[in-house]
Amino acid sequence: MAISNLPSAAHPKKGSAQEDLRAVDQAQAGSSNNGGNSSKGALVVKFWGVRGSYPVPGPKTVKYGGNTSCVEIRNPYHRIIFDAGTGIIGLGDAILSEYRAQNGGGPDSSDAEKALVLSILLSHTHHDHIQALPFFQPAYLSQTSLYVFGPQLLGFDLRESISETMNARYCPVRLEEMNSHKIIANMADTDRLLFRNSNKVPRVISAREELPALHHEDLLVTMLHSYSHPKDGVYVFKVQNNGHTVVYATDTEGYTGGDSRLIKFAQDADVLIHDAQYTHEEYTDLLSPKQGFGHSTVDMACEVAHKAQVKQLVLFHHDPRHDDESMARVEAYARQHFKNVIAAQEGMEIHLGE
Ligand SMILES: [Zn+2]
Ligand SMILES: [Zn+2]
Repeated sequence: MAISNLPSAAHPKKGSAQEDLRAVDQAQAGSSNNGGNSSKGALVVKFWGVRGSYPVPGPKTVKYGGNTSCVEIRNPYHRIIFDAGTGIIGLGDAILSEYRAQNGGGPDSSDAEKALVLSILLSHTHHDHIQALPFFQPAYLSQTSLYVFGPQLLGFDLRESISETMNARYCPVRLEEMNSHKIIANMADTDRLLFRNSNKVPRVISAREELPALHHEDLLVTMLHSYSHPKDGVYVFKVQNNGHTVVYATDTEGYTGGDSRLIKFAQDADVLIHDAQYTHEEYTDLLSPKQGFGHSTVDMACEVAHKAQVKQLVLFHHDPRHDDESMARVEAYARQHFKNVIAAQEGMEIHLGE
């Protein structure tokens, strides 16, 4: 397992010429046109947005980042995007740069082989997890097939929920006006998603169907419906690839003794990305109560990590009021409770299986 945390000075600005060059380098080194990267066979987790609730740009958040939730998990064959907070804007720009580099400098061709297949999995539809979907540039390409999966919460179809936020009263672009071919589907928490190399289109496998034997390049996603987030809970996702497991558990609140369903779901994972919005003091503060808000404390995240015996814990969904200084304190505190823990930073990558 290797972590590369690009120092902010060397980290190219998203969408800049530097970023374009880096994307070209990666595309040339990669073995496919999806998620090209130089570490062949590796599973890569990249953090594009780590913040909860609302974005917090500015000089006090440059180290950990100010964008809302977006995590990319990819191997050389597939790319899955978790949540569409403002972090997805930079990811979309990087995908477009990659696409341009691989397709002769312009996305104007309609050749079938130039198709771009992208999948976004939404934990739920609160603003900080979908607010940047209208600014995800690949969604405007007619060459893009955009799969969006997530839970059907409060009885509303996922498509209906997203479409409502892009109503003309709130957004200049309606969902239908984005040129990509969009496949938006509710997922049952018993469904599985299989990303198989021979077919870049994700396949939904219901609980009734038998799971095929997995190849080393396949990504398998399973889900857990966590009920501890208002009003109708969230999906926690588990990605498995070639013996490696990553769990994405955002917007979830702990229980006494640890969330036992989550502990079971995340058992022995290589990486557990866990909500850790509050310190214990903030959570129990009588003047401004946070209990029942559907978010965890650092202690809760550490307890789940410890009991699930995960190899690494990544604190996620940082409180927007936590600037870089307080995040450093949060991280130091967490290390006293779980040995291999890090607070997610924008641009940070974790490589598994190198
Ligand atoms: Zn959130
Ligand atoms: Zn939420």
